[in-house]
Amino acid sequence: MKKKYERRTTNDKRRVLVTAGPTREYIDPVRYISNDSSGRMGFALARAARARGFGVTLIAGPVALETPEGVARIDVTSAGEMRTAVMKCRSRADIIIMAAAVADFAPAKISRHKVKKASIKKSMSIKLIRTPDILAELGRKKRRGQIVVGFALETDSIEKNARKKLTEKNCDWIVANSHRSIGGKMSRAILIHRSKGTIRLPMQGKRDLARRILSHIAA
Ligand code: C5P
Repeated sequence: MKKKYERRTTNDKRRVLVTAGPTREYIDPVRYISNDSSGRMGFALARAARARGFGVTLIAGPVALETPEGVARIDVTSAGEMRTAVMKCRSRADIIIMAAAVADFAPAKISRHKVKKASIKKSMSIKLIRTPDILAELGRKKRRGQIVVGFALETDSIEKNARKKLTEKNCDWIVANSHRSIGGKMSRAILIHRSKGTIRLPMQGKRDLARRILSHIAA
């Protein structure tokens, strides 16, 4: 029988699950709705977690970034696909970081053929439906000891809106940042814990910011 004091081996080291990048919700085979996101922050978090010795799984939307060394990557396209992948991996993870910019709505129907421009007289409407809120589901299904981290990208009242999300989605931490950090190599963040208070991290490169975020979360 495994003894309590036995050291963790490579196979049972602590595991981090990170999501990154946007999702794409297709209208027809070539057109889609998406969010502006480079995926840099999520990839930097995956790299930082690996460097700290975690076993890391990275679920990535469509991005043009290289997989950090030693990280297991799963590529997905839509919010639905991201949900399926996250739900498959969630139970093994000690820490889950939802850094992805998941689309909040998707076309109700995907046209099998490219919509012909000539078929639209002056305007056309697309019925949109809500995508599954993956983070909220993780918050509901969270197991004892599991740490769930959400991101909140806000254009106004950053801290207030982020706190609301923290409670509503039952997260342990929320990383709040401004839409100004989208796409760039630098970012600042406000880290809010559900009971331990707030940490303000100044403007810095996303790699350094990821290392600092992780050192707080994994502490
Ligand atoms: O509610 P809002 O989209 O602003 O919340 C942002 C957080 O929720 C991010 O961590 C994002 O990854 C997650 N999210 C999600 N599923 C969605 C929308 C957002 O998991 N459909």
